[in-house]
Amino acid sequence: MMRNTSCLLPVVSFLISTSCLGQNENIDLTGVIDMHVHAGPDSRPRAMNDWEAVQMAENAGLRGVLLKNHFTMTADRAALAAQLVDSLLVFGGVALNRSVGGINPEAVRQMAAFSGGRGKVVWLPTFDSQFFITKEGITDPFVPVMKDGKPVKGLLEVFSLIAKNNLVLAMGHSSPQEVLALIPFARAEGVENILITHVFGQDASFSQIQQMAATGAIMELDWLAAYTDPLILNDYVEVIQSVGAESFIISSDFGQEGNPDHASGMRAFIAALRSREISQQQIDLMAKQNPAKLLGLD
Ligand SMILES: [Zn+2]
Repeated sequence: MMRNTSCLLPVVSFLISTSCLGQNENIDLTGVIDMHVHAGPDSRPRAMNDWEAVQMAENAGLRGVLLKNHFTMTADRAALAAQLVDSLLVFGGVALNRSVGGINPEAVRQMAAFSGGRGKVVWLPTFDSQFFITKEGITDPFVPVMKDGKPVKGLLEVFSLIAKNNLVLAMGHSSPQEVLALIPFARAEGVENILITHVFGQDASFSQIQQMAATGAIMELDWLAAYTDPLILNDYVEVIQSVGAESFIISSDFGQEGNPDHASGMRAFIAALRSREISQQQIDLMAKQNPAKLLGLD
């Protein structure tokens, strides 16, 4: 494989995105599923809407996308957007932030029951999580997930609905301590698929990442973080090589106004990993097999 050494260096993000773009177009996205796709309508500025996002993803050859919104359910939007494309798989979910009532089992029950069957992921609070609000120094109210070392009221019911409907429990912006404390409770309710949302964005230590892997949870590595801070790629490569690709997925987390489209993000991510000696087999596990497994696909 031809290697473009300019892609290897921890240069500013726009250099990665532009200098490798031509080369990245050769990267085949067959089978690749991006489980972190933001698009409008949204209360945050987005680069495209759901329709544009799925059409771009299909044209780029992705196998599937999972639409994520922090404030409203996307199972319905995914069902509508799926009608615009031929082969692309389109999924959605619900994030348990204040706009849906926080830890609200009814929000999960309805999402799972919506026609189209596109609702697959339940995120614990993201922008309304205690960890995020505290870390950002914001004074807004937050949605706690634990009280006195136990899951808050309603959370066990959420876990049991996730299990019953074979959904994915995504840990949102919970702290690594909360993630590790909650996983046994989720397992006890029968939750099989656990996804730890952008694990490095949550400041997990290497030892916590090892403990998370030992629970059988899958951890997310997102391109947005590496696009913003290329040095984080070093951490990604280290955990993939030492913990094992079987414990990770890679996603774009793109959709922000001004950023490239999701497929370009996935291509740039794959190119960056290849340039750092991550094998195609490892990439396939993280970009294809693990997302398919979480989503209950063959
Ligand atoms: Zn996101």
